[in-house]
Amino acid sequence: MNGKNHERLLNFIFPFISFYLGYVHSDFTAALIFWVLWKIGTYFITCDLDTKSRSTKRLWVLGWIIDKLFKHRGLLHNPILWSMIGIIGYAEIGWPFIGILCPQYIHILSDKLL
Ligand SMILES: [Zn+2]
Repeated sequence: MNGKNHERLLNFIFPFISFYLGYVHSDFTAALIFWVLWKIGTYFITCDLDTKSRSTKRLWVLGWIIDKLFKHRGLLHNPILWSMIGIIGYAEIGWPFIGILCPQYIHILSDKLL
């Protein structure tokens, strides 16, 4: 799946997640952090920073450096890495940090399935 379709898929799922959050959680600030992190995880910090992707271009020099450090579909496409990042993020931010993890897991899964 190419980067544009990854973004389309994540933007398709986003309203359903938002509806669920609005239904289950009444903490608007936490939901807002989740939404912002979801968008960052969709457009900027993605698994495809390891190739010449749209997210790599958006991060400019930092994206170029990450692209040079990691081979495509290597470490950045490893769910264990994102789980470790998730543990740290959960400890620091709490459940809204899932907003940046979900797009990565969906990305990895869609890379495998589609
Ligand atoms: Zn990918």
